[in-house]
Amino acid sequence: MTQYSMIIDLQKCVGCGACALACKAENNTELRNNGQTHNWADFVHITTGTFPNTKYQTLPVLCNHCSDPACAKNCPTEPKAIFKTADGITMVNNERCVGCRSCQDDCPYSMEEVLKDGAYGEYSVISYNSDNIPVHGFYRDGKELIPGCTSSGIDTARVLRATPPHRTKYDHPDYEDVREESVVEKCTFCDHRLKNGELPACVEACPSGARVFGDIDHKNSEVSKLLEKHKSFVLMPEKGTKPNVFYVRDYSVTA
Ligand code: SF4
Ligand code: SF4
Repeated sequence: MTQYSMIIDLQKCVGCGACALACKAENNTELRNNGQTHNWADFVHITTGTFPNTKYQTLPVLCNHCSDPACAKNCPTEPKAIFKTADGITMVNNERCVGCRSCQDDCPYSMEEVLKDGAYGEYSVISYNSDNIPVHGFYRDGKELIPGCTSSGIDTARVLRATPPHRTKYDHPDYEDVREESVVEKCTFCDHRLKNGELPACVEACPSGARVFGDIDHKNSEVSKLLEKHKSFVLMPEKGTKPNVFYVRDYSVTA
């Protein structure tokens, strides 16, 4: 059996966001959709303590590809649009999804719940495509980021004679490279890349090697060895979903 898993080493994570950007570029996800955060790879930030004894923590979050996924329990389609693959990925089949959003309601990680004490900020695990907004809207944005100071996206693109980059194309039986409106979408562990022998885009992009990916059912894999070496934790273990994203060690930034 194969159970793909990810380990995030919080001591190596510097909170740079390269993983989230790589995910957006790879999977053509929107910045926001109908006012809601739309990130397959996301973060929560946690500040604890009172100045000057404060601690700032960054916690990368994504779909946990749970072994007992709450998201799939009430999916009404037959076969289920959200399902487990043979190698342990929680996948959404875009064709079967009818956009009822019960998976979003049922996934304990897909709400703005406090994951750990002091966590704040929006994050998303399952996103809903309410509008089919063109990808890379930055190139069409006429607003200055800082009024009177910076150029707008459209001005920058004009000066640089840049055209919108072509979206990343891939071919997958369950999900399209850009999803249709009125369906949900989420992290796929970059299954289309795994099939080509590549790592998920977020793992490859991480400059500090904080994200490690592999088969947890294989005892000689790097993920298995890391879990043996370090004490690990998962988010909200009390929900009983058996996550396959593990965190090891402690946060990188303390002050
Ligand atoms: Fe499903 Fe949520 Fe677990 Fe991902 S994190 S497998 S969406 S229950
Ligand atoms: Fe299933 Fe789609 Fe409804 Fe989610 S939104 S429960 S994947 S049909």
